[in-house]
Amino acid sequence: MRIRFLGTGGAEGIPAIGCSCAHCTRAAQEGGRLLRKRTAVLFSLPGYELLVDTPPDIRELLDINGVRKIHGIFLTHEHTDHTGGLEEFLYWGEGVDLFAEPRVYRRLMRNGRGKRMADVAFHLVVRPGTAVRFNDFSFIPFEVHHSVPCFGLAIYEGGRRVVHVADSGRRLSNYARCLIGGADALIVNTPSFEPVEAAHLSVEEAIALKEELGVKRLILTHIAHHNRPQDELEAYVAQFEGVTVAYDGLSIDI
Ligand SMILES: [Zn+2]
Ligand SMILES: [Zn+2]
Ligand SMILES: [Zn+2]
Repeated sequence: MRIRFLGTGGAEGIPAIGCSCAHCTRAAQEGGRLLRKRTAVLFSLPGYELLVDTPPDIRELLDINGVRKIHGIFLTHEHTDHTGGLEEFLYWGEGVDLFAEPRVYRRLMRNGRGKRMADVAFHLVVRPGTAVRFNDFSFIPFEVHHSVPCFGLAIYEGGRRVVHVADSGRRLSNYARCLIGGADALIVNTPSFEPVEAAHLSVEEAIALKEELGVKRLILTHIAHHNRPQDELEAYVAQFEGVTVAYDGLSIDI
């Protein structure tokens, strides 16, 4: 399967609005891989393009990356950096499947976000631990610990398994650890370098998790301005085997 990291920034993106920290200043001056729009990942599966999350930047991200086909959207949780661009799909022109766990969907509707989506999207209810089966691939949502209901995704295709843990704190259920154990690839949202808060994994914790659970390849994304810049992160992860720091536009075949 092909995985495209359309956007790889934390909630505020890099440079963050109105910020003059060293990271944002460098990003504004040097551009390139130091710039990060908010996080969205596109999985190309047999006959089906699955987009995970719709950040406020989604319109631009789809445009820059030349994405013309999306069959389904999986929403991990309600936070604005993951759902703020949902209504852009009102202009998509074709119907899309909208996979969302009932609490995520209810909270979105309650907050008035995505209310008009019913006109263009098919809401498909997903439940943690229950596989959604297609002809040639499947995925299983699983709950993670975040400040609101949030769901990761284990994707199975052609004997390979890729796990996307979304915004997750370090407390993972034993079930989640089973799905992650030995995965071909693990995608983790790591806004910070060191552990600073309970709602998100850090770079250090994600690497420890990869080593502990025997994951073949770890890909770090959702990187915030208080994390290290791309070049410094790449230099750091080089000491570990199979760790990649995603940047906007990165494409990986698993
Ligand atoms: Zn987030
Ligand atoms: Zn900054
Ligand atoms: Zn979040």
